[in-house]
Amino acid sequence: MAYQYDDNNIFARILRGEIPNDTVAENDYALAFRDIAPKAPTHVLVIPKGKYVSFDDFAANASEAEIMGFMRLSAQVAKAEGVSLEGGNGFRAITNAGSDGVQEVPHFHLHIMGGRNMGPMLA
Ligand code: IMP
Repeated sequence: MAYQYDDNNIFARILRGEIPNDTVAENDYALAFRDIAPKAPTHVLVIPKGKYVSFDDFAANASEAEIMGFMRLSAQVAKAEGVSLEGGNGFRAITNAGSDGVQEVPHFHLHIMGGRNMGPMLA
């Protein structure tokens, strides 16, 4: 079964400019903005500009250019936020997928969180 993308999800509306966001970086393929309810001093969401529901949808169906653009922007964000291993203390990058992954917004996004010790992964 094909992935079912909801054009009215909140990140689709952000990409269309219908809802404001706190952008930190952008390229042709991806947008990075601050999470509205940050769980760490740095909490940035990186999303592809294409319509992908989840990590598995993106990894399986996005073009190499889209994947490269997404990954490079993610690294750029970590560096700009001072949490990359190039001068910083590190970060956690996670993505939730589907109901068992407790994904709230059905547009693929990577959480980049840092600026404090993130502790152990949740059980
Ligand atoms: P998920 O559970 O992995 O889908 O995470 C969704 C994230 O989106 C949560 O951390 C929310 O705080 C965040 N979020 C929801 N709406 C907005 C918004 O309008 N701007 C920025 N972040 C948002």
